[in-house]
Amino acid sequence: MIQSALQILRTTFGYEQFRLNQEAVIDHLIKGGSALVLMPTGGGKSLCYQIPAMVRSGTGIVISPLIALMQDQVSSLIQLGVRAAFLNSTLAVSDAKRVEQQLLDQQLDLLYIAPERLLTPRMLDLLQRTPLALFAIDEAHCVSQWGHDFRPEYIQLSILQERFPQIPRIALTATADETTRADILQRLGLQRGRSFISGFDRPNIRYRITEKRNAREQLLSFLENEHRGDAGIVYCLSRKKVEDAADWLRQRGWNALPYHAGMTTEQRERNQRQFLTEEGVVIVATIAFGMGIDKPDVRFVAHLDLPKSLESYYQETGRAGRDGQPADAWMAYGLQDVIMLRQMLESSQAEERHKRIERQKLEAMLGLCEVTGCRRQVLLSYFGERLDRPCGNCDTCLEPPQTWDGTEAARKALSCIYRTGQRFGVNYLIDILLGKTNERNQRFGHHKISTWGIGTELDSSQWRSVFRQLVASGYVTVDIDGHGSLRLTDQCRPLLRGEQRLMLRKDRKKEPKQKPAHSRRSSFVSDSDRRLWEALRNLRKECADQQGVPPYVVFHDATLMQMAELRPRTLSEFKEISGVGQHKLERYGEQFVALICNHDETGEIV
Ligand code: ADP
Ligand code: ZN
Repeated sequence: MIQSALQILRTTFGYEQFRLNQEAVIDHLIKGGSALVLMPTGGGKSLCYQIPAMVRSGTGIVISPLIALMQDQVSSLIQLGVRAAFLNSTLAVSDAKRVEQQLLDQQLDLLYIAPERLLTPRMLDLLQRTPLALFAIDEAHCVSQWGHDFRPEYIQLSILQERFPQIPRIALTATADETTRADILQRLGLQRGRSFISGFDRPNIRYRITEKRNAREQLLSFLENEHRGDAGIVYCLSRKKVEDAADWLRQRGWNALPYHAGMTTEQRERNQRQFLTEEGVVIVATIAFGMGIDKPDVRFVAHLDLPKSLESYYQETGRAGRDGQPADAWMAYGLQDVIMLRQMLESSQAEERHKRIERQKLEAMLGLCEVTGCRRQVLLSYFGERLDRPCGNCDTCLEPPQTWDGTEAARKALSCIYRTGQRFGVNYLIDILLGKTNERNQRFGHHKISTWGIGTELDSSQWRSVFRQLVASGYVTVDIDGHGSLRLTDQCRPLLRGEQRLMLRKDRKKEPKQKPAHSRRSSFVSDSDRRLWEALRNLRKECADQQGVPPYVVFHDATLMQMAELRPRTLSEFKEISGVGQHKLERYGEQFVALICNHDETGEIV
């Protein structure tokens, strides 16, 4: 049985080997077992049900809440020569009728259905009259009321085990802690099935957090140095900032489009569509953007503002590199972020218990920003997973930050806050430490206090760094008065009494020069390579436009990149490229091989 699965992997999908738990899951399903599969984004969950659905007789029914994605998924399958269709509210009645007929005539390997439609008595009836291979429940964490994507329809999916006890069920998700997992097993009646759990890690994502100086300029140089022509997402906290940043990037020649809840539905859909179907679009968005975005070739996710928790950070950055190719998670972070988030939290009307949880989450987020060790280790351990060794693919691994003994500086900063009555913000305090007179500190008589001018060994940006770290690590808190006044917390005492030393992170003076995570560009040795890559992308876009599908449905970046590297000159060489199955070989082989041959003959001779 597993032999025929491997056969399908190779001839239909054009891949050589199974990944992670794929083989075990597929084997288990083919034999009629049910399963819960937890795999990180981009791990390859789809094959886990697609292949068994093709091997087993009958149709595989895929339940997914993300209606917007069904079309793409089905287009991708049809490109591979798989008999697939979908049923949801976007379909005209006559089209839906046709699909139902195909189902009854047993002409489908896979049918994607929205949960609310599946649950109609009519549909359940129809399914009962049809041979079925399996039920796949995608985004299975939606059954859990604890998660943030709870969908009431998902609870009712328990009907599947009652009405179709003989049909294997597979539930899949990328985000499930213990509680959610238990919920999935119970609600979908999978207690007797097997669980296949792969780790959370996304090794192809390079995590980078840099100190904010001029965030936009820093973003621009990151984009220009490493991501020309790439698709990516830039997250900002507010609508206004989204608009501003998108305008600003456009003026600098980037195809940047805004996305936030204040725009009309049509505007949002247009921009999202463009992001999906065109190459190299940068979407600048609030967190309103992302759910249900399954674009595989997002090469970077940048944050201009700090997310509120590691959960949000991980989910947002997780939209990068779903195709397994190198991708960047880049963030600029500074004192103002810390102050603003602390302020928002402290002044919120929420219950104290709720605030305490939020505070812990923020603490963990700040911890990630200030850590001097491997960022991935911190992230994974937050999600309950251990990484034994530093990852080697985050900024702190690649260029370990230096530390310095900041005990004295911290004590000066703390007593300055204290001596001025815990009523002032950072800029004011720094002027006092540096002994810079201004109208305000004269008026308050602060040029006469003992901390006046005691901090000239550091400059103002170094002082900002000290204050940032003091706030981040909880020695200092931000008042809820709205002016950003700093106050001491109890945690300060041992430090002020000289019983504790404090090591601080040295901010980098310049953006560290890092070899782009994106191996594509660095692997291009010549201009000719780059030209070929561009030509292949253009041809892919033409093919995609002719059929009205996004380019990645035709070929993924990884596949195209291999073409540029291996330069297949015959159809049998072309077939060896990962991601080229029988169907795509027949449909595209000649055009692409011709382009490559032509390039090799003309491209080099200049
Ligand atoms: P998930 O749903 O887990 O986020 P997908 O099923 O979309 O991930 O797969 C992510 C990418 O990996 C897709 O481009 C898919 O074609 C590719 N992929 C999956 N399995 C394999 C494999 N065994 N070998 C090579 N590529 C694979
Ligand atoms: Zn690391």
